[in-house]
Amino acid sequence: MPPPSLSDPGDRQESVPVKLALGLLRISQALANARGAAAGEQGLSPLQLQILIDLTNEPSGVGAAGVLARKYGVSAPTLSDSLAALVRRKLVTQRPSASDARVRELRATAKGRTLAERALADLDQLVGVCAQMPHEEQQRSLGAALDLIRRFNELGWIQADRMCVTCRFFERDRAPGTPAPHWCRLISRKLAAADLRVDCPEQEPAVSSPGS
Ligand code: SF4
Repeated sequence: MPPPSLSDPGDRQESVPVKLALGLLRISQALANARGAAAGEQGLSPLQLQILIDLTNEPSGVGAAGVLARKYGVSAPTLSDSLAALVRRKLVTQRPSASDARVRELRATAKGRTLAERALADLDQLVGVCAQMPHEEQQRSLGAALDLIRRFNELGWIQADRMCVTCRFFERDRAPGTPAPHWCRLISRKLAAADLRVDCPEQEPAVSSPGS
């Protein structure tokens, strides 16, 4: 029997994995629309907004544009065009690093950070939608979302930096069946599903993670 497929009309009606995949495609479209609208409100492209958000999260700067190009899955020229536009608008600075003059360090300016924060505030609608779900449903959905992100990362579809599920310090299911089954080796702490972090500054990618 062939595996279920998005192209099979019967599977689109009956197969749970196919319906889940279709649902995820719809969600990705909805999120792309929301992100595009939030970026547009600030006069930015979605890629420019993503760069600004990431640079805002890294106040010490990002040392290489190539890191960002790989992260977003775009070509170096595409990233460079977006960066140039941000620099022209004085939202980002690009200066030689103090420790290595060959490295051009990227930083969001105060104006850039303000724009990124405004756009994120627009996207708070998404938080509102999640907050409407019952608490247990929120936790189950968080676990399912993180698991999918880990799997997408293993396929090399996305980078999942700053997240427990792709961190070298993370031990999944060290105490299976307990309320806090996971473990962080860095802080020597048990982690419940709801404790898993999606924006941890101490995260270091696991070497076995091809999408990192
Ligand atoms: S260092 Fe941070 S990302 Fe890594 S496992 Fe610990 S809490 Fe999670």
